[in-house]
Amino acid sequence: MKELSRITETFTESVIREMTRICDAAGGHNLSQGFPDFESPKAIKEAAIKAIQDEWNQYPVTYGEPELREAISKKVWSYNGVKCDPGTDITVTCGATEAMMATLKAIINPGDEIIIFEPFYENYGPDCILSGAAPRYITLYPPDWSYSSEELAGAFNEKTKAIVINTPNNPTGKVFSREELEEIAALCLKWDCYAVTDEIYEHILYDGARHVSIAVIPGMEDRTITINSISKTYSVTGWRVGWAIASEPVTRRIRKVHDFLTVGAPTPLQHAAAAALAFPDEYYAGLQSHYEKARGFLSGLLQRTGFKPGLPRGAYYIIADVENLMDRLGVADDFSFSRKLIELTGVATVPGSSFYSDPVKGRTQVRFCFCKKWETLYAVEQALLSKLT
Ligand code: GLN
Repeated sequence: MKELSRITETFTESVIREMTRICDAAGGHNLSQGFPDFESPKAIKEAAIKAIQDEWNQYPVTYGEPELREAISKKVWSYNGVKCDPGTDITVTCGATEAMMATLKAIINPGDEIIIFEPFYENYGPDCILSGAAPRYITLYPPDWSYSSEELAGAFNEKTKAIVINTPNNPTGKVFSREELEEIAALCLKWDCYAVTDEIYEHILYDGARHVSIAVIPGMEDRTITINSISKTYSVTGWRVGWAIASEPVTRRIRKVHDFLTVGAPTPLQHAAAAALAFPDEYYAGLQSHYEKARGFLSGLLQRTGFKPGLPRGAYYIIADVENLMDRLGVADDFSFSRKLIELTGVATVPGSSFYSDPVKGRTQVRFCFCKKWETLYAVEQALLSKLT
C-alpha cells in the first residue's frame, strides 16, 4: 500500500481527549478535558428545541446564519469594543477549533512561521503543521506566566506570518494585560504580521482581571483574527458553534476554507446561540461566581494533598507541579503520573507534556480543570484525601 500522508505522522491524537476516554473507561472523575458536567442554561436549550421545531433544520448560510452574525457583531461591540460588519467580517464555524484551522489555512503559505506562547493549548501544534507553518515557541514563565520581551522580539523575523494569542490562557490561566498586548501589537505592525487570538474564556476571569482584545489596539483592526465560540461561555461544548472575526479580505479567504471543510455549523444551534449572546449581565456574573468558588476549592484541595498548584487569573484550569508526589507514586513522568492517579484515585488529569513542544518541560506537571458541579468536586475531594493523605 502506498504511504499515507506524511504530515499526519508528525503529531499524535489529542491527549486531552484521550484522557477523557481513559477516564470514562475507568468510571473516574473527569478533571482532564475542559467541559462542564453541570446542566447547560435552560434558556439556550429551550432556544435550540424551538429552533428545531420551527424547522431550522436544513443547511445554514455557509458562513453563518444572519441572525447569529448580527448577535455576534452586537456582542463584540458591547463586551470587547471590537467593531465588525456582520455582512463581511464574520465566519461562523464548527467551534473555535475549526475557526483556528480555517484561519491558518486562509493565511499561511509554506515556509511561514507562527509564534506560539508555551505552554499552549495542544491543538495549536497540529493546527500549525496542518496549515504548513513552522511554529516558534515563546516561553511563559511561572509563577505569573510572564514572557521575556527580548525573547519575544527575537522570535519575529521576515518569515513570521502570525502570532497566536490565547487570553485568558489555557492551560496557565494567564490573562494578557493591555501593555503586553500593545507590545505584541507593535511587533505585529513592525513585522507586518497577523494576530490570531483565541478568546474563548473571555468571560471567565478572577481577582478583578480584565479581558482585553488585541483587535482594539490601534493598528490591529485589520490584522487581527478574533476567534471565539459558545462552548465555554454558555457551557455547551458539544454544540460546535464558533466563529472567526476578521477584516473583509481575510474573511473572504476564511469563508472559502470553511465552506469546503464543513459547509456550516448546525443551523438550529446557531439560532440558539444567537439567543444566548443576548443573555443579561447576571448570567455571566453567575458563571464567574461558580468558577471562582470552584477554583478556590480545588486549589485548596490540591495544596492539602501534596500538589503545588498555580492560581489561574482566568479560564478554568489549574496547572500543578507534581514532582513531590512522583516519588511517592513511584512514577517518573507526567504521563505515568496521570495514569497512576486515575488508577489510585479515579481522578483524571492531563499530563503536562501535552502543552509543550519538548515533553521534558512538562514532565513534572499535570493540568486539572474545575468546570464541574459541586457533587463532582466533592467526590474528587474524597478520592484525593483518602488516597493521598
Ligand atoms: N479546551 C478543552 C481543554 O483544553 C478541550 C477542547 C476540546 O477537546 N476540543 O480541555
